[in-house]
Amino acid sequence: MTAQASEGEDWKRRYLDTLHTLEERDERLSMAEELLRLALGRLTLAAEKAYPLLEARLSALRQEVKAAPEGRLPLRRLLAQLNELVGELRTLETRSEEVERKSQVAPAESPDLDERAALARRFLAALLEKVVLTHELEQRKSDLLEALGELPGKGATTVLIDRAAGLINDMRKQLEHEKNDLAGFLKQLTDTLNELDRDVQSVHDDTGTRLALHDAVDSQMRGLEQDITAVNDVNQLKAIISTRLDRLRAHMASLRDSENRLLQRMEQKTAAMRGRILLLEKEAAGLRESLRASYERMLIDALTGIPNRLALDARLKLELARFKRHKQPLTLAVWDIDHFKAINDTFGHKAGDKALRIVAQKLAQEVRETDFVARYGGEEFIMLFINTSMVDALPKAERIREAIAAAPFRYGDKPLRITLSCGLSQLRAQESIETLFERADQALYTAKQAGRNRCIMV
Ligand code: GH3
Ligand code: MG
Ligand code: MG
Repeated sequence: MTAQASEGEDWKRRYLDTLHTLEERDERLSMAEELLRLALGRLTLAAEKAYPLLEARLSALRQEVKAAPEGRLPLRRLLAQLNELVGELRTLETRSEEVERKSQVAPAESPDLDERAALARRFLAALLEKVVLTHELEQRKSDLLEALGELPGKGATTVLIDRAAGLINDMRKQLEHEKNDLAGFLKQLTDTLNELDRDVQSVHDDTGTRLALHDAVDSQMRGLEQDITAVNDVNQLKAIISTRLDRLRAHMASLRDSENRLLQRMEQKTAAMRGRILLLEKEAAGLRESLRASYERMLIDALTGIPNRLALDARLKLELARFKRHKQPLTLAVWDIDHFKAINDTFGHKAGDKALRIVAQKLAQEVRETDFVARYGGEEFIMLFINTSMVDALPKAERIREAIAAAPFRYGDKPLRITLSCGLSQLRAQESIETLFERADQALYTAKQAGRNRCIMV
């Protein structure tokens, strides 16, 4: 068994012991009442015979004692009645002593009366012997027993009965007081333990806090154990337990406080970190956006605004992989502006640039969305006809060529005719991009040789 478990067992044993004491006191209380009931019955019977004058009243008193339900003896009223009767008995005895003195003759019933009084004393003594009293009342009991053992003097018996009734009543009162006291203390102890239990349950599942709490409770419990082993008195025990419980409660309160402070600090830190994360996320989003923009800029030709050679390379790589996988036809067209040098020479470099921009826009407009066009360099453009054979691509290229040749370009107020030549080639199985280009270039060369402003496929 662990030390903690044995401590728990110890507590349980002490709690049960206290409850047992309470039950024992209850038992003693009902025993005392029972004895009181018996004593009153017998004494009233004895007194009734000794004092026929009081017969009716004594008999009524006995009946009342008999009739009272268990644990509900009307003590106060019975005591008042007894006191009254004892008073009357005293008067009766004083009177009979006076009569005796005057006549100097012993009354006929006198020996009988003494005998009865002695009987009553013996009976009372036997009853008292059986009664277990608390320490304080024990002295009164032995004094009374001593008085009961002495030779009966006239008038003394009623006083002794009076004293016995008083003693038993005091004992009852004391027991009742102790019982209430003990019950109150047990309730307080149970409440406090429940409170502590609730506190322990509510303690945050934090290892440091739990260890601190365990140490505090452990040391208080050990101290309590040492203290109470040396103590027998209930009041002292109560005081010790109360002090220790107060200390435990204070420990719990300070632990709760420090935990709350820790929680607050953590919440503040979390809030600060959350703010920092939000800021970082914003920065990251900004960076992502500028990266995307610069990547896009990287792929766009600055002069014409259409995809550049880098973009073309990436797209070609993609289409080559697609071609290998799906075997769909792919046709490449190389466009070159005819006599572009002459445009530059005639109208100037700026006019040449403008012509390049217009041609690029026109090519981009004419091409299908799924197809692709890029400025390859100088006045050369590359067009990709996706999923299109060379035979199908040729008429499309022709249409584009014708549209540009027919467009009414102007530079200032001077009309400008721009034509393009085009060479087409279709990607063959196992062919590289380089040879595909070479073949398209050859076709372009043929177109130029054939008089320009035309499309040739190889
Ligand atoms: P061809 O019909 O045989 O293609 O004749 P061409 O004059 O177009 O051919 P060539 O290769 O002799 O000349 C191309 C000219 O294009 C030379 C160069 O100055 C001009 N050029 C290349 N890039 C640019 C540019 O960005 N802006 C301008 N304005 N001119 C350019
Ligand atoms: Mg050229
Ligand atoms: Mg040219």
